[in-house]
Amino acid sequence: MKWFNNILAKVVPIMPKWSVSLVAKKYIAGVTLEETIQEIKKLNAYNFLATTDVFGESIPDIESAEKPVNYYLELLDSLKKEQLNSGISVKLSQLRLTIDEQKAWKNFQKVLTKAKENDIFLRIDMEDSPWTDKTIGFYQRARDEYEKTGTVIQSYLFRSENDIKELIFDGQTNLRICKGIYKEPADISFQNKKEISDNFFNLVKLCLVNDAFVGIATHDLQFINRCEKYITDNKIPNDKYEFQTLLGVPIIKTLKRLISEGHNVRYYVPFGSDWYPYSMCRLKENPDIAGYVFKDFFKINKENT
Ligand SMILES: Cc1cc2nc3c(=O)[nH]c(=O)nc-3n(C[C@H](O)[C@H](O)[C@H](O)COP(=O)(O)OP(=O)(O)OC[C@H]3O[C@@H](n4cnc5c(N)ncnc54)[C@H](O)[C@@H]3O)c2cc1C
Repeated sequence: MKWFNNILAKVVPIMPKWSVSLVAKKYIAGVTLEETIQEIKKLNAYNFLATTDVFGESIPDIESAEKPVNYYLELLDSLKKEQLNSGISVKLSQLRLTIDEQKAWKNFQKVLTKAKENDIFLRIDMEDSPWTDKTIGFYQRARDEYEKTGTVIQSYLFRSENDIKELIFDGQTNLRICKGIYKEPADISFQNKKEISDNFFNLVKLCLVNDAFVGIATHDLQFINRCEKYITDNKIPNDKYEFQTLLGVPIIKTLKRLISEGHNVRYYVPFGSDWYPYSMCRLKENPDIAGYVFKDFFKINKENT
């Protein structure tokens, strides 16, 4: 199916924006903050937790970091005002990490300070491998200032086990583990699905046996079952882990079942006016996303049948 996904990924950017939006809207809470707040309220009403992300691009213009920073500050105030059960997820490229590390830290610190003032959890998303060290560095500095912070570890990278071992030392570590969305070279990453999945499972176990909180971010139903069995067999309390999902991916039956069986589930809820350039950029990085969305749109998915 690789060839099909590659073709799809080339076709989508030349389709009219309105037709792309018909498909994309399912995966996006909305363009405005108000729409997003309503979406999170709905999720919270069904006992789902949330983490919110403002769409953005790494535009080569330092000043334009002001826009995402202000969005995050506004978002943090709204989450507090509405007493919603939601954290935020931040991409450092949006705060200009790829351009100027010191300025990026200053931008990040504004968001971190507001998160701390408002007592809201802040997670730093993980981007492609040139930024892994710096992202982990930001996380280490952030948690010295505010304990309710976390980052992300990708199971396709060979380095991830060591990264976790370096991060887990005080029972305060909070990591989301996922497979990883970017295309990474074979000399630093697993390319085979089974290896990525097996490493994912080992990393989840590594966190749990070392008392680190783990967010298990996946839509792979077999993998969810595998983790659930480990958690149940080992009587892991539900304040040490949660399952995480992207908004719109059609696995609602499984998520509802997980909640009914006492697990916590968190939705990743992206929003913002920059959804189109953001989606095109992700599509270029990983054409498989086009295949997922195609399958979902035409209901070629186990949970849709
Ligand atoms: C909450 C959350 C946060 C994430 N944060 C990061 C991050 O910070 N850095 C990073 O590199 N990656 C991140 N990811 C993406 C992750 O790394 C994977 O690329 C993605 O979740 C697909 O892997 P999978 O485990 O779902 O398994 P797969 O085997 O890839 O997918 C299983 C099935 O899920 C469905 N599916 C998966 N992804 C999508 C999608 N995007 N749209 C529609 N259907 C889909 C498809 O039906 C697919 O067959 C995150 C994922 C989640 C759920």
